[in-house]
Amino acid sequence: MEKVLFYEKLQEYYVTKPKKKPFSQDEQIQMITEIEAAKTKTCTKTRREYYLLATYTVFKVAGQNFLIYKPTENEENIRYIVSYEDLYDKIKSFHINTGHGGNVKLRMAIQKEYYIPRPAIEIFLTVCQTCSCKKSMNRKLVIKPITSNDFNERGQVDLIDFQSVPDGKYKWILNYQDHNTKFISLRPMESKMAIEVSTHLLSIFLTFGAPSILQSDNGREFVNCVIDELKQLWPECVIIHGRPRHPQSQGSIERANQDVENMLRAWMQDNVSQRWSIGLQFVQWQKNYSYL
Ligand SMILES: [Zn+2]
Repeated sequence: MEKVLFYEKLQEYYVTKPKKKPFSQDEQIQMITEIEAAKTKTCTKTRREYYLLATYTVFKVAGQNFLIYKPTENEENIRYIVSYEDLYDKIKSFHINTGHGGNVKLRMAIQKEYYIPRPAIEIFLTVCQTCSCKKSMNRKLVIKPITSNDFNERGQVDLIDFQSVPDGKYKWILNYQDHNTKFISLRPMESKMAIEVSTHLLSIFLTFGAPSILQSDNGREFVNCVIDELKQLWPECVIIHGRPRHPQSQGSIERANQDVENMLRAWMQDNVSQRWSIGLQFVQWQKNYSYL
């Protein structure tokens, strides 16, 4: 199915663009015969023969003849010219071997051994089912927080105290959660100063969108200081301090903080590592992934 679609699109490309379609297997065989004959020809060569000899070479491996571009002096690799019929299978094997590698990765891998025109690679990438599934999954993960358009968009910022087990300069964890999406962002912090908190929040807000109301377990003064700092960094962003709507929702946040702490301690144990600033990224992923 993918293969049929690939050749449909590729065919369309070469019909509409003034580009030479890659040689078919038959054309390659024909060219190889012509080149071999031209090499041994003693009388005057035709223009086509000169052109073929100047551009291509026949490369012999295990009794088989392959058409390749004539290597330039400083070229190390032999690059086989892939026939039109083989394009799909060849690109696919590289695509799988590179772990569904994208445009750049795929081209880099292919060009070491084969000559395949760029449009063929680009068209291939549009027909790979696995890649399009992966893309729509990523989209869900990123867009979900942004589409939260509840009028009273709320976010919660809390600090988790890790002073007893410092990871180098890091002693605190910032836990920001968007109430609508439940999406959390975790950041290692050196201090609990408002300026450091707001710098992290700025980066989070500019990625996922800013809330209208910010609340925290860490007290009114803390939130006000953070909001003041944020105003300095981003004057157009209007955020007000809010109290938790329901006592229950507050409880769930406390549990969320406890959860993060427990998961992080488990990560440190599993990995025999004190570098929780790294583990934090895994915990963030695990927590967010479980909401999808
Ligand atoms: Zn793919």
